[in-house]
Amino acid sequence: MTKPLSSDTRAIRAGRVHNDTALAPVLWASSTFVAGGVEEAHKFATDITMPKFYGRHSNPTVADFQHAVADLEGAEASRAFSSGMGAISAVILGLCSSGDHIVAQSQLYSHTQLLFQAVCPRFGIDVTFVDGTDPDAWEAAVIPGKTALCFAETPANPKLALVDLERFGAIKGPMTVVDGTFAPPVVQRPLEYGVDLVIHSATKSIAGHNDAILGVVSGSEELLAWIRGFAILHGAVASPFDALNGIRGIRTLAVRIRRQTETAGQLAAMLEAHPAIDAVFYPGLPSHPQYELAQRQLDQPGGLITFDLAGGRSAGSQLVERVELAQLATSLGGPETLLTHPASTTHVGLLPKELEAAGIGEGTVRMSCGLEGADDLMADLGQALDSIA
Ligand SMILES: *Cc1c(COP(=O)(O)O)cnc(C)c1O
Repeated sequence: MTKPLSSDTRAIRAGRVHNDTALAPVLWASSTFVAGGVEEAHKFATDITMPKFYGRHSNPTVADFQHAVADLEGAEASRAFSSGMGAISAVILGLCSSGDHIVAQSQLYSHTQLLFQAVCPRFGIDVTFVDGTDPDAWEAAVIPGKTALCFAETPANPKLALVDLERFGAIKGPMTVVDGTFAPPVVQRPLEYGVDLVIHSATKSIAGHNDAILGVVSGSEELLAWIRGFAILHGAVASPFDALNGIRGIRTLAVRIRRQTETAGQLAAMLEAHPAIDAVFYPGLPSHPQYELAQRQLDQPGGLITFDLAGGRSAGSQLVERVELAQLATSLGGPETLLTHPASTTHVGLLPKELEAAGIGEGTVRMSCGLEGADDLMADLGQALDSIA
């Protein structure tokens, strides 16, 4: 075969380097590995391609998960972490020093925002927040010689605002980092735009079954060597069991996203037409403020929809409590359709003005479409909406 294989095909076989003859991914649960002598022990300790030294450094199942993600991202290397926040904090604390400056967007996952606001200043790292949807704002906030890193999340929590990856990847000077959790590599590949590092909370779509907490960072071998060095001290290592679930998830990632996207398209259209709804934010709807950008940089608009209920907090509470199939739980990208009410949960630590900057109102609800029958979900959401209209 001369034609390069599609990512759908590669995902089926990826992550089996340490499999021997087993077809399915293998769980290497051992925390340490026996060396045959000093020479071999030295090789285990120093050769990062040999993941059989000690579990905080590396592990064969975790290494296989990393191979699979790097393959799909088009990256030279990846490093897995025990959570998405483990990955994000290792990138920030491993690559930035006292006196450095970071430019981050104001639309962020709430704990990423807290890391920038509450932890970075303690280490003498200044952070400037910009509107991530304005490409000029990023460049204007960069301080030559001082800005070490620009941090974007796209699509972003919770209103699915997009950062223009072509412009973001072209920023000269600082390292560019994208949290691409809402758009896994079968949908969006930031490294292709010149972005330096892409991070995922693999807890979400990549592992994809709501049964693993896992993070991963991908990029050049050179940057990953730095991150790997810090990660061993930081200690937020991925569990082999979660990494196994990560490889399991990757094999069905493309079909799951396709199905969730189909369902989300139908639900978004229904929501937009319903009188109980003020506004719907879905990158697949022409009403999305960045619809054209979404068409350019996302292969599919994905399974997440955010909407504002006209009736504010009481309508928001009623809706999330009256649905029967969809469930009120934090997280996204799994088989179960989940609703979250950001103002009372994920973003509860934010000040009113920060909530406003992030576009989160009392009636804002985020929905992660699962793999249930679309008709059943339409009926469920429809009855709950009708009851509050
Ligand atoms: C969930 C999430 C994180 C944090 O990931 P954990 O695996 O929960 O630590 C970071 N960024 C985004 C966009 C997320 O949705």
